[in-house]
Amino acid sequence: MRRSIATVCISGTLEEKLESIARARFDAVEIFENDLIYSRLSPREIRQRCADLGLGIDLYQPFRDMDGVDDARFKRNLERAERKFDLMVELGAPMLLVCSNVSPQTICDDELMASQLHAMAEKAAERGLRIAYEALAWGHHVNRYQHSWEIVKKADHPHLGVCLDSFHILSRGDDPAGIEHIPADKLFFLQLADAPRMVMDVLQWSRHYRCFPGQGTFDLVGFMEHVLKAGYVGPLSLEVFNDIFRAAPNRRTTLDAFASLLFLEEQIRTRLEGQALGDPAARALTERIALFDPPAAPKVRGVSFIEFAVDDASGKALGKALQGLGFEHTGTHRTKNVQLYQQGEVRLMVNNEPGSFASDYFQRRGPSICALGLATDDGQRAVNRGVAFHVPSYAGRIGPHEALIPALRAVDDSIIYFVSQALEERGFLETDFVLKDAKRGASRAGIEAVDHLALGYPFEQFDTGVLFSRVILGLHPQESMELADPNGLVRSCAMVNADHSLRIALNVSHSRSTVTGRSMEALQGGGVHHIALASSDICATAERLMKNGIALLDVPDNYYDDLPARFDLDDALLERMRRLGVLYDRNEDGEFFHFYTQMFVDRFFFEIVQRSGSYAGFGASNAPVRMSAQARKA
Ligand code: MG
Ligand code: MG
Repeated sequence: MRRSIATVCISGTLEEKLESIARARFDAVEIFENDLIYSRLSPREIRQRCADLGLGIDLYQPFRDMDGVDDARFKRNLERAERKFDLMVELGAPMLLVCSNVSPQTICDDELMASQLHAMAEKAAERGLRIAYEALAWGHHVNRYQHSWEIVKKADHPHLGVCLDSFHILSRGDDPAGIEHIPADKLFFLQLADAPRMVMDVLQWSRHYRCFPGQGTFDLVGFMEHVLKAGYVGPLSLEVFNDIFRAAPNRRTTLDAFASLLFLEEQIRTRLEGQALGDPAARALTERIALFDPPAAPKVRGVSFIEFAVDDASGKALGKALQGLGFEHTGTHRTKNVQLYQQGEVRLMVNNEPGSFASDYFQRRGPSICALGLATDDGQRAVNRGVAFHVPSYAGRIGPHEALIPALRAVDDSIIYFVSQALEERGFLETDFVLKDAKRGASRAGIEAVDHLALGYPFEQFDTGVLFSRVILGLHPQESMELADPNGLVRSCAMVNADHSLRIALNVSHSRSTVTGRSMEALQGGGVHHIALASSDICATAERLMKNGIALLDVPDNYYDDLPARFDLDDALLERMRRLGVLYDRNEDGEFFHFYTQMFVDRFFFEIVQRSGSYAGFGASNAPVRMSAQARKA
């Protein structure tokens, strides 16, 4: 389908916006009036610039307060419209967006509104232009799409139709199924935006928190299904007002915007194909409309390995810390300065190879997590999918005895390797590493697997990270939470796959003084700042780590004095937890025990967790306790 975006979505001057939009491979734009007014280019020059960039101009917007006015004002409105029509002819824009009137003085009379819109459409028709009428969610009289359609139907003019905007419809909780009753030739334009679910004034919600499809919680796939079944064949046009996107560099935002449309198309296609057997209308649609068809998302089975970038000093210190955590040094790379540590299923690689990706990473960021290996069904397919969504692939220096693992460049510039089942079965570790004879991966401190990872992002990267996790890693967002660090709020959104074998918490903080903020500062960008490992006997693990001299995060006595007020807990267990600094949470699904190590060089730390029952959370209620303890330490 034709892919379009409103210039208002992104930062920059109009010229910069158009260039970025074209580079991201959009077909067309909606020109937002303010962008034009503030531009030094004449409408004719803008038209030429778009033509040179291969961009169509599909819509000019907005035209406000047109409908439901008295005669005197209506006369002035028509004069105002004529001036816009002159401009649109110069610009080569075929359609004008008219928003429903928001003025408290609106005359709430459908007949009057229809006749006024008819008169305007008649004037537009004289120039060969069309009018798309949009119900704003906060319109004074017309604020639902059904109502805008009734008025368009009454007006009955071939140059007047409706503009559907997913935000206005879904933010109000309207049922989009009724869209299927609107004739296709009256569906003039479609604007798409997602948003996080929020309880607030809908105007503020719309102006500041819209996001691209897949970054919020609206059911846009269901919405689009009705739009397509109604026979809509026009552009899919993104219209997103978002404070962060307006401040962030526009190149990244336009790439995200384009990927979000591709992802939406893929999901719609999958849904329609699923219905095609039993539903002739769905089958006809899949045959008629070309929707994006990338390689399928990877089936991730968990974390295969985690790689750290170090230098000599930090490599020694980290190796010592890992051994304190019960990891065994199990191998040395055949050709590179990379050490392998294992415990249970957990594999950690510590990379100190000069001239490598890791050493470059270390130069910029210090000791840090530079790569993740994900266990997946088909690594090459995962990378092909990424490339289809314009994510850069990564190919490192490969020696003669090394396994080639397909990889992508992640949002924070680290590497994600996709380790195929087949590669795992061939023993890719033994290809790369000289493994010691020692019992490999003996669980010396009871640590068995990676439970979850936490990734921090600078605030302008967070939505990019959400989209990447969904589209490329196939994760689904859980509820987003605000966690109270003593130095500011941290927003955290857990992303999980279907069987919870991969869990990643995405964190963002506007404050530089929170634990997340400080890690991001130290890392010069986003990155993994927290690795949670699963133990089958958490208290025994904590005791072993203390014996090994690992400094655990100190939890205040007040926390343990408060716990019995919240939960019914065995006294002996409570005292043991207090002594070890083990935190606790419980819900209807099960229990969660966890404790933390101290920060490693201000950049990352380890958490040890134990889940019982089907507890699926992350102990969020305890995060502020952890953050306070970490703040005290700083
Ligand atoms: Mg709109
Ligand atoms: Mg594994």
